[in-house]
Amino acid sequence: MKRCSKCILTETYPRIVFDAKGVCNYCNNYKIKDIKVEENLLRTIDKYRNHNSKYDCAVGISGGRDSAYVAYYAKKTLKLNILAFTVDNGLMTEGAKKNVKNTVQILGIDHVTIKYNYLLRSFRTSLSTWIRSPSPAMLGLLCTGCNSCILKGIARIVEKYRIPFCLHGEGEPENCDDESTFQELLLRFPGVRLKRVSLLLGFSKEVLKNPLYILNPMYLFAIMNEYYYRYLFNINRKKNYIGLFDYIQWDEKEIMTKIKNELGWKKPDLINYSWRSDCKIHQLRQYLYMETLGITKNDGALSNMIREKLMKREDAIKLIKKYNDMSRPFLSDFLNEFGFSLDELDKVLQKKGVVV
Ligand SMILES: [Zn+2]
Repeated sequence: MKRCSKCILTETYPRIVFDAKGVCNYCNNYKIKDIKVEENLLRTIDKYRNHNSKYDCAVGISGGRDSAYVAYYAKKTLKLNILAFTVDNGLMTEGAKKNVKNTVQILGIDHVTIKYNYLLRSFRTSLSTWIRSPSPAMLGLLCTGCNSCILKGIARIVEKYRIPFCLHGEGEPENCDDESTFQELLLRFPGVRLKRVSLLLGFSKEVLKNPLYILNPMYLFAIMNEYYYRYLFNINRKKNYIGLFDYIQWDEKEIMTKIKNELGWKKPDLINYSWRSDCKIHQLRQYLYMETLGITKNDGALSNMIREKLMKREDAIKLIKKYNDMSRPFLSDFLNEFGFSLDELDKVLQKKGVVV
């Protein structure tokens, strides 16, 4: 398979185009992340300290790598009085739950969990609908309900505890824009500025192939609700939602050392990489991207690391083989919980001719 000569993206990556030198459009259009100065962060948050409420800020912890570090940094470096919270969608990995427990106990911080059972109830419908016409462009819909639950959860916490601001760990180089890149698969008219309209038209095209997406009114409502929270409810516009990695350089070695040694953080069993190890659906989606496109979001993540000069291309090529080799026992157990079988799923994908 052809790969970009600068990063590791292959010819099956969404909307990829190579120039005469074999360099992809993602490399050619990439702008190195502009990190604001750390002092600006201190200046910004100082006004929130001791702000007539019990807590200076809230940090969402998922049991994943980034949020554990954000909680660590907020408590130890910024000396903030934080409230940690977890939005549990019912599909957290066991390892992620242990990481949350350790982070809270070791840092000695208050913690609340908000449970949503929506994904547990809807996942069977989402997956059986997708299986009917397996399209990589529609894999995002396996997570229908997650964004809305998380954003509603944050809003509840902020209101209930009168939290002055939230500190989050999104936007680190491994994660930049990965969601939007894979959304490109669904765009009806790529390159057109009205992206939301293009997405809706792309969705309509997929629905013509597989009307199950709109035949169940509950599921359709959930999809529209998720669309609203994902694309129209822009929490980043709110000034009191601050991304730590907009202000400090992403240093994977430092972050991993700190969370492993000081918070007892561990990568969940049977998952080969640390990024997004907190959610079972994320793992399944990676597997299905691999089966249908021959790549996963890890390809995009590691390519961003190369562009940010945080990783060498040859090291990324070695790592991607390991990262994309997903554990069958893990996937099998997860699918069995919902009455699906991994072998049956593989057979359907082969029969429909979508396996790369
Ligand atoms: Zn490239």
